[in-house]
Amino acid sequence: MEGSLEAPTRHTIPWQDEAWYDEAALDAELRRVYDICHGCRRCFNLCDSFPILFDSIDEAPNEEVEDLTTPQLKAVVDACTLCDMCFMTKCPYVPPHSSISISRT
Ligand code: SF4
Ligand code: SF4
Repeated sequence: MEGSLEAPTRHTIPWQDEAWYDEAALDAELRRVYDICHGCRRCFNLCDSFPILFDSIDEAPNEEVEDLTTPQLKAVVDACTLCDMCFMTKCPYVPPHSSISISRT
């Protein structure tokens, strides 16, 4: 089965929580999720975010997510319009699927 059976939950953004501004934690979480997408690539043609991500990895020295710079990580986020197509139509890593998860805010 592809995608989710339900729309993603929009969690309240904890902008008053200091942890929200932890750049190292954000960097680690982006790289964790991007590495899952790198290993999957089913969403390569859904929007601008995925080609930006996959091209950046393919052009990186070792073709690894670890090679990406912070501006490259940000470019993927900035291209996302929150259309939910990846969540609803493709991803095998969102509920009701188990194993690893890609969280959404
Ligand atoms: S939510 Fe839409 S724009 Fe954002 S990454 Fe998924 S398919 Fe692309
Ligand atoms: S299906 Fe899921 S893991 Fe695969 S590229 Fe799309 S969002 Fe990433």
